[in-house]
Amino acid sequence: MEPEKIHVIWLSGQACTGCTVSFLNATHPSLVDILTGFIPQAAGITLDYHQTIMLPWGEEALKAVEAAERGELEPFVLVVEGAVPDEDKAGEGYWCAIGEENGRPITFSERLKKLADKAIAVVAAGTCSSFGGIPHGKPNPTGARGVMDFLGRDWRSKAGIPIINVPGCPVHGEHLAEVLAHAVLALRGYLSLPELDEWHRPKYIFGQTVHDNCPRAGLYSDGKTSHAFGEPYCMGLLGCKGPISHCDAPKRGFIEGVGGCTAIGGICIGCTEPEFPDEPYGPFLKKAPATFFIAEKIRGIIAGLDAVWHRFEEKLVGRKL
Ligand code: SF4
Ligand code: SF4
Repeated sequence: MEPEKIHVIWLSGQACTGCTVSFLNATHPSLVDILTGFIPQAAGITLDYHQTIMLPWGEEALKAVEAAERGELEPFVLVVEGAVPDEDKAGEGYWCAIGEENGRPITFSERLKKLADKAIAVVAAGTCSSFGGIPHGKPNPTGARGVMDFLGRDWRSKAGIPIINVPGCPVHGEHLAEVLAHAVLALRGYLSLPELDEWHRPKYIFGQTVHDNCPRAGLYSDGKTSHAFGEPYCMGLLGCKGPISHCDAPKRGFIEGVGGCTAIGGICIGCTEPEFPDEPYGPFLKKAPATFFIAEKIRGIIAGLDAVWHRFEEKLVGRKL
């Protein structure tokens, strides 16, 4: 039996469309895999509205959004790219609108609220929609914020699901593709939803620090430090924020396993974190706070002494521990 169709509405607010571009580069699974039902249990997904890649335009394009707002496009997952501006700060104008009604622009936040009320799940794609991201950086003239701030941290979809944040500037295409596929499988009862951290990020992706996943971490432990870009050692002195950022990109790579910031000589700028791009992640080349490095060194000394003690004990007692 064909599974029930699940529609996707992709709404863009204050965004640069980088998350769309990144999503189009996902390969495991790709957008085509998702739309063609790469596994039978995840078949029947349709992308009904995406302003950048859909064919219709103008009023014709908005029909799917309007149907979803009226509750006539059931069930649908709402994917949000971009931050939500505060229209109260726009004076007589507006910051961001999608379409109009009787000549009146319909603001992004109005659309977002109506759609969120009807969606079975809301997924924030990228740091702007998760936490405000670049538009939210100081002095934040438009009052930009993430969807979770806008709807409320305790907000739940009509299916009882909290907002799922998949941050990244841009979002990692495969993070998003995986989370969308995972959400569909969960909605159909094949899986449970991914466990989320306090910032509603899936823990299996964002549960470890960049430093934990960095191919240069061994060199860091060995005291080998880069003093200029292009050197193959730890880039802590060049401003790397890996110790205070959460993401698996250096281990996973960015596209087809290639790339991933610190893996290819770029410092981590903490793009998946709620405070990004402000302190302690900005300015990007400023060194991360020393506390992490001091604490890690102390842990390293304790672990080293423990390893030596175990070997000594082995010899002394003559048994393997
Ligand atoms: S500080 Fe940055 S470059 Fe150095 S090991 Fe940690 S994540 Fe890698
Ligand atoms: S390694 Fe750092 S800068 Fe790169 S994607 Fe992850 S959090 Fe963002």
